[in-house]
Amino acid sequence: MLQKYNFNSYPCPVCSGTATKNLYQIKGFTIVQCRTCSLVFVNPRIDNKELYTLYTTQYFRNVDNGYEDYELTAHLRMKTFRRWYDEIKPFLKTTGGSALDIGCAAGYFLDVLKEHGWEGEGIELEEEMLSSIRKKGYRIYNTPLEYFDKKKQFKLITLFDVMEHLPNLHLNLEKLANILDKDGTIALVTPDFNSKQRKIFGKRWFQFKPKEHIQYFTEKTLRKAVTSHGLSIIHTSHSGQYADTSFLYNRLKRYGFTAPALIFKSLTDILGLSKRSWYADTGSMLAIIQKKD
Ligand SMILES: [Zn+2]
Repeated sequence: MLQKYNFNSYPCPVCSGTATKNLYQIKGFTIVQCRTCSLVFVNPRIDNKELYTLYTTQYFRNVDNGYEDYELTAHLRMKTFRRWYDEIKPFLKTTGGSALDIGCAAGYFLDVLKEHGWEGEGIELEEEMLSSIRKKGYRIYNTPLEYFDKKKQFKLITLFDVMEHLPNLHLNLEKLANILDKDGTIALVTPDFNSKQRKIFGKRWFQFKPKEHIQYFTEKTLRKAVTSHGLSIIHTSHSGQYADTSFLYNRLKRYGFTAPALIFKSLTDILGLSKRSWYADTGSMLAIIQKKD
């Protein structure tokens, strides 16, 4: 499966350092840590030119990518996105106006933006998602962020589970700074390498998907990355997602806890909890970023 890709070694995406130490071996990839700035990244990895091809077809149906049938969990995603919007809202300098959701998938967050009076546009590379979301009437671009050449500026830009995928990190950050209105806000959610989930699960942490999650930030390395583009992090917090019993059952199985997974499922069925959902911390962080004054 992986043999069809070309691999390449890259310097640290944040500081361009080349001195690293090895942390984990996962699925044939090495996860390293930069000795200069402490960013954790995959090296070597799939070549930049080929990386975007991972996302153009069937990405959201591939269980290997960690997406347990995207539309089936739509109600959980909507609930999660509404909660995330409520968490972002206190930091916004304006509400309403133009917003851009990068990696918008089926457009559920665009629906949430619409509920709050925003005019949301999206970037999405997966072709099947593209056509279904365009039918809902949203303007969707299928260009990777680094090649996005709109002169327009946005008052809110969101990147949910996107930062960890981006090659050419500084080109992408420069683009973000250019398309962000002076009173605009960037809100992003990305796996936090310092999270307790990573510390507990180690190399079994579900966020380690070294084919496409090519870098793993902490608050410190994210801060270093954005600062050189005139941006600053004004808030971070732990982030999670709503999960129901079948989602949690699948996650437990994924971690190899098959027997506990079955017990959990039987218990929740007996207790009549199979329709309930909980907000579970996934070891991600929410970061709110604005232009420096
Ligand atoms: Zn570095």
